[in-house]
This record gives sequence, C-alpha cells and structure tokens, in this order.
Amino acid sequence: MVNRVKCLIIGSGPAGYTAAIYAGRANLAPVLIEGPQLGGQLTTTTEVENFPGYPDGVEPFQMMDDMRRQAERFGTQFVSGVVTKVNFQTTSNTGKARKPHQVWVEDTDLYEADAVIIATGASAKYLGIESERTYKGRGVSACATCDGFFYRKKTVAVVGGGDTACEEANYLAGLCEKVYMIVRKPYLRASEIMQQRVLNNPKIEVLFEHNTLQLTGEGKVQGADLIYRKGEPDEATKHIAIDGFFLAIGHHPNTELFKDFIARDPEGYIITHDDSTQCYTPSLEGRAGERLPGVFAAGDCADPHYRQAIVAAGSGAKAAIEADKYIKSL
Ligand code: NDP
Repeated sequence: MVNRVKCLIIGSGPAGYTAAIYAGRANLAPVLIEGPQLGGQLTTTTEVENFPGYPDGVEPFQMMDDMRRQAERFGTQFVSGVVTKVNFQTTSNTGKARKPHQVWVEDTDLYEADAVIIATGASAKYLGIESERTYKGRGVSACATCDGFFYRKKTVAVVGGGDTACEEANYLAGLCEKVYMIVRKPYLRASEIMQQRVLNNPKIEVLFEHNTLQLTGEGKVQGADLIYRKGEPDEATKHIAIDGFFLAIGHHPNTELFKDFIARDPEGYIITHDDSTQCYTPSLEGRAGERLPGVFAAGDCADPHYRQAIVAAGSGAKAAIEADKYIKSL
C-alpha cells in the first residue's frame, strides 16, 4: 500500500509528539509512526519532575498520553509499527528534493512524504559482558520502572553514576530490601539533588570504583562478581548476592536505519547545525555533507548533550516549523 503524505514523523517520544502538534496546527495533516516503544524512553522512568506545567510532577505515561491526545486533536494520524527501510531523495540541483522521500513500515506499507521528521530517540546501553545476555529477562533489566515490581523485598544492584542510575536506585529502594549502586568512578556524575537523595537513603550502598566482571546464578541472577580499582595496586574482587541487576549507563541513538542517507557523528547522533534541525548527507569521516532537503531530526537521536524531555519537545517544535516552511516552498 502506498500512502502519500505531506509530513511524516518517525517516533512517539516528546520530540515526535510535539512535532505532530505543531505540524497539525500548520495544516500538514501529519502521520506519526509510533515505533517499537510507544511514548519513547521517558516511559521507562518513574516520575517526571522537571517538565514545566506539572508543578507536582507527573507519571511519564500520563504525560505522553497528554501529548498524544493533543497531537490527535490537531489531526495527527498514528500508525503503530516500526520503520524498516527508508529512501531519502538526496539528489537535488535546486536545493529542494524533486521526488518525495520514501519510508517503509514493517516492510509492507510505503509512505511517500514531502518532509520527514526523525524523532527516533535513543536506547539503553548494556555493559557487553556475556552473562548479561545469559540472564536477560531473568534478573537483568534496563528499566527499573518496568521490572522493579518483581524485586519487592529483594536485593538488587544498579550500574551507573548518572541521573538515571540515581533515579532508578531511589525508585528501587522504595520496593527492595537493599540496593547496591556499582559506580566505576570515585564520584557520582548525577546532579547534586539526585546525589543527595542516593547518599541519604539508608537502603542504598554505593560501591565506588567498582566494575562488574560477571553475573552468577542458576537459571537466574543470584550474584555479581565485582572488581575494585581495576589495575591499581589495591585491586580486589568482591562478590555480592543480588536478585536483580539494572543497567543505567546511558543510551545510544536509534539512527542506524538512516546511516546511508544522513550524516551522523562517531557515536551515531544525527548531525544538525546549532540553530536548525536540518539533516545533511553523510560525507567522509562522519562529517556532514550537503543539506538533505525535507529531512529534519529532533530529540535525543540528534542530541548528545542535553537529552532532556523538554529539550526534545522544543526541537520537535523547531523541526515542524522548518518542515512547514520547506513544504510551503515546494
Ligand atoms: P549519563 O551518561 O549521564 O551517565 C552514565 C553513567 O553510567 C555514568 O556514571 C557513567 O560513568 C556510567 N557508565 C557508562 N558506561 C559504563 C560502563 N561501561 N561501565 C560502568 N559504568 C558506565 O547517562 P544518564 O542516563 O544517567 O543521563 C543522561 C542524561 O539524561 C543526562 O543529561 C542526565 O542529566 C539526564 N537525566 C535527567 C533526569 C532528571 O533530570 N530527572 C533523569 C535521568 C536522566 P562515568 O561517569 O565514569 O562516565
């Protein structure tokens, strides 16, 4: 089936929904492809306290549902499914694409669009140790909100020292008997307020300068072997008994699908310029080539610095405004 649209948005996080609200209000009748995680990464956190307009904080599913309903109100059509292939029209001698961009959903439905807004976000990183794969879904998780409930009154470990790790450790401390935080540096990277919450929580024990060697257990996680101060004269190993192992070590951008068409930095983040969401064709050494007319990127897939819902929403608005200008110029 071929569907012809003016503005296609890929992703259903704060960037995608905000782009849909703006594109809808600009009469672009946007179509939004929801992707594998409805509502985006935010739905894997516990509570949002820093999004303006929610003075008492908000449950992430609620916030994303609010955004979705707002996008729906202005005529967004939602498509559940995953984009499997794209063909962006890179050739142009006038600065504008002559043919529409093509996007396939689940390999079968083809969408042809004048403008495409990529808002595919980022996904959780894993350590890369073998036992992580062995116990995935049997004690290993990258989402405390999703899986924490299964570890009530048990002992768990959270890996990482950033805001996500602190948030997850605090959340799990509300459910579990004890929470270890495994932090590779001698300090936490998280914001001051999150650090204080962790350090003042009697259920959380922070193991600074520790790395995970392997997970152990029969059929499920029952423990972890750690190494303290790897490579230092006082290097030592330690075993902790745990029932759950939660990763909170950051994310990588979901941009692999676009690599042949758009410029990305060495970590895979889409390259845009400071004041625009405009995408570029790739050139050698991961640098940006020429403008790719009608293709824009918003949110965490193009943001290695801030990675905040409010910033993603702001860039979604920018992308829709730029897409509108582009479509009107055709
Ligand atoms: P960060 O990149 O900030 O932190 C990742 C943490 O994981 C760091 O402590 C890092 O250690 C550690 N780490 C990375 N790789 C490994 C590894 N292989 N082994 C062990 N440890 C590792 O990611 P976050 O997801 O925490 O945060 C991302 C962004 O989102 C930040 O800007 C953050 O402020 C924001 N955020 C804000 C929230 C809020 O305001 N409520 C909630 C959650 C996130 P090291 O320090 O040594 O590099």
